[in-house]
Amino acid sequence: MAKERKPNTCFFCGKTKPNMFSGIGDALICSDCIEAGHQLVLTLPKQRKAAGELDINTLPTPQKIKDFLDQYVIGQEEAKRFLSVAVYNHYKRLLQEISNDDVEIEKSNILLVGSTGTGKTLLARTIAKMLKVPFAITDATSLTQAGYVGEDVETILVRLLQDADYDVKKAERGIVFIDEIDKISRKSENMSITRDVSGEGVQQALLKMLEGSIVNVPPQGGRKHPDQEFIHVNTQNILFICGGAFEGIERTIAQRLHTQVIGFTAQQETEHLDKNNMLQYIAPQDLKAYGLIPEIIGRLPVLTHLDPLDHDALRSILLNPKNALTKQYQKLLSMDNVNLTFDDEALDYIVDKALEYKLGARGLRGLMEAIMTDIMFELPNRKQEGAQSFTVTKEYAQQKLEHADLYRLKNAV
Ligand code: ADP
Repeated sequence: MAKERKPNTCFFCGKTKPNMFSGIGDALICSDCIEAGHQLVLTLPKQRKAAGELDINTLPTPQKIKDFLDQYVIGQEEAKRFLSVAVYNHYKRLLQEISNDDVEIEKSNILLVGSTGTGKTLLARTIAKMLKVPFAITDATSLTQAGYVGEDVETILVRLLQDADYDVKKAERGIVFIDEIDKISRKSENMSITRDVSGEGVQQALLKMLEGSIVNVPPQGGRKHPDQEFIHVNTQNILFICGGAFEGIERTIAQRLHTQVIGFTAQQETEHLDKNNMLQYIAPQDLKAYGLIPEIIGRLPVLTHLDPLDHDALRSILLNPKNALTKQYQKLLSMDNVNLTFDDEALDYIVDKALEYKLGARGLRGLMEAIMTDIMFELPNRKQEGAQSFTVTKEYAQQKLEHADLYRLKNAV
């Protein structure tokens, strides 16, 4: 037999109150529960925003995106501008309302070409940090055509899903950075027979993802097997940023430029080329000559380059980014009450070593570590002596680096 309800009892909280609102049948709700429900409804838009909802009014403009990048990435003006506009347009595209004018904004995946250690990954990572969207980094060299040894292309999306806490909708608006895209070109020297014989299989598999398709993703990654449950991820709105060093492509660019400018002014025109930075003249046909299939090139319409890092750029990397290496060591030692400074000549010396040993920006950390380890070992012992100060001079840096295993540092980058 159904249990008899007491009169004036709220169906939600079970309390008996004098004033009740009635619903269908004998349903009753008290004013407290109505108020609680009202408050909950008011917070819903905020919750949706927090979950990554976009709004054209709060979307950062390209200038704002670039300003943010400037805080972390030194130089690379062109790449930053291209990236800022492409990311802004990408999110505008996500916001586009279905209109009657049939104008559909197409996806603008990005290809960053630049030597290793010039900031490609850093750019992608910084963009993701700013936009607070799920972000995944993957290395194209580990990818294979299904059936070969290695990771299936779909595993790229596993990382994205993990970063989105398996919220598929959120992941479907994320950013994926695929590094070393040049290594899957047909002509790549890194080509492995275990991957696929022509390199084209991986490119084809990747193409589908770049174009926008529903991909069956094995939730835990790894190889697919028939009995597995899949998560279906639509890649239509995922922004892909690809990066590659395309070693040796300068020769292809130079050849193209020489043959393009035939005639009277040829010599003059080619004389004006900046031979130290040929990547700035890169064009889609160079990528084709390098062995990327035209369809992939077509799906990466925003093509831009990164400049090589010269002395000034490396010096600035040591000093200026928000989390510059010198700032990090200063913070570490300030916790031990030590005021740490670096002489200008010491910084120049460190940069010269990075250039001499071709360590690039990535090697700066190893050099600094070799110089700073003894200081960080010894100075905390003197904490009780009160505030201290220490200046890294050129002589000190020289002395430490002479004993450091530079060969090991070189191989570590
Ligand atoms: P890439 O992806 O081009 O091989 P990364 O972005 O991984 O290079 O750079 C390696 C490291 O070198 C970064 O983590 C950063 O510390 C430093 N670095 C490289 N380029 C820059 C730059 N332009 N500005 C600031 N730091 C940089």
